[in-house]
Amino acid sequence: MPIADIQTRIETACQKAGRSAASVELIAVSKVQPDARVEAVLQSGHRIFGENRVQEAQGKWPTFKAQFSGVKLHLIGPLQSNKIKPALELFDAIHTLDREKLARKLATEVQARGNCPELFIQVNTGEEPQKAGVLPAALEAFIKTCQGFDLEISGLMCIPPVEEEPSLHFALLAKMAKENGLSGLSMGMSSDFESAIALGATHIRVGSAIFGERVKPD
Ligand SMILES: *Cc1c(COP(=O)(O)O)cnc(C)c1O
Repeated sequence: MPIADIQTRIETACQKAGRSAASVELIAVSKVQPDARVEAVLQSGHRIFGENRVQEAQGKWPTFKAQFSGVKLHLIGPLQSNKIKPALELFDAIHTLDREKLARKLATEVQARGNCPELFIQVNTGEEPQKAGVLPAALEAFIKTCQGFDLEISGLMCIPPVEEEPSLHFALLAKMAKENGLSGLSMGMSSDFESAIALGATHIRVGSAIFGERVKPD
């Protein structure tokens, strides 16, 4: 679907929710998509993209960034602590902060560089054993840990369990953000971004609805 059509759907969802369309940032998730599709979206004028692997992003984004100005990249997949340096070279935002060791190492690097990406804490709202993210019960303490390292936290991110109603998880994430005084909410993907907007999403991560089905598994 052309990205302009996604923007129209975002505007409609915002109107229904009594929100301004400017309050929602569309992250075009380009992981594993062929370069030609990504380039077409860049040509259309969109500049905010998401990738879930540092190494994959390193392979394609330096070239695109040299060709198109004003690109903003969001890391939406897991970050290994040995990839922090390259991640900070490339990404303007990290959505997957989820453990103390990562927070500590990130803080050290951020201090050395003198600038910090926008940071979201990933919350495992479904408490799924195989999934990354801080458990809801541990969130408040983890936010304090990050703040203790002088990391500024913008908000929370979640990936709801596939078999559950996503809006329950969006509502839970919004509640936890409010309780902790955080304004950013990274939630909503191709199949559910409208309900995420209704529940307060500030950042939606949309891949296949923009680019088409991913050709390789992610
Ligand atoms: C792949 C991915 C998305 C986009 O998924 P679509 O269903 O293609 O929109 C969003 N968030 C995360 C964390 C992802 O890994």
